[in-house]
Amino acid sequence: MAADPYTHCPDCGFIAPPESMDYTLPPGHDGIDWDRPVRLTCICCHASHLISAGDVLARDSAMTCHRCGTAAHHPAGAARVQCPGCGLFLLGPSLTQSQRDQLAITEGLAGIALRETWKAAKDRAARREGR
Ligand SMILES: [Zn+2]
Ligand SMILES: [Zn+2]
Repeated sequence: MAADPYTHCPDCGFIAPPESMDYTLPPGHDGIDWDRPVRLTCICCHASHLISAGDVLARDSAMTCHRCGTAAHHPAGAARVQCPGCGLFLLGPSLTQSQRDQLAITEGLAGIALRETWKAAKDRAARREGR
C-alpha cells in the first residue's frame, strides 16, 4: 500500500498527511496516478485542494510513536505525523509553541465548523419529519 503523501496545506499552512484523498489507481509503483488531478483533504483544517507529484514532501525526519513505538517517518516541520504502526496522528516534534497553539485553534475551529454542519443537517431532517 502506498504511504499517504505529506503536503503543505495552502489553506492553513501546516504540513500533514491527508485526512482523505481521491485519485485513480493505476498499475504504477506508488499507487497514485499523477497524470490525473489528486484531491486531498487537509487533516488540520479539512479544506480540500489539488496536488501534483511536485507537492509531495520528502520524509526526511522520523519520530517514535508514543503509543506503539513504531518509527514514523515524516517531512521536517510536519504538524501531524501518522504512525504507520497503529494509525495514530501524532503531534509533529519540531513545532514551536505558537505553531502548536495555532494548530489547536485550526483543528478546534474545523471541529466546530463540522459540528455546525452536522447540526444544520440534523435540524433540516427534524423539520422534514415534523412537517
Ligand atoms: Zn489545512
Ligand atoms: Zn503507533
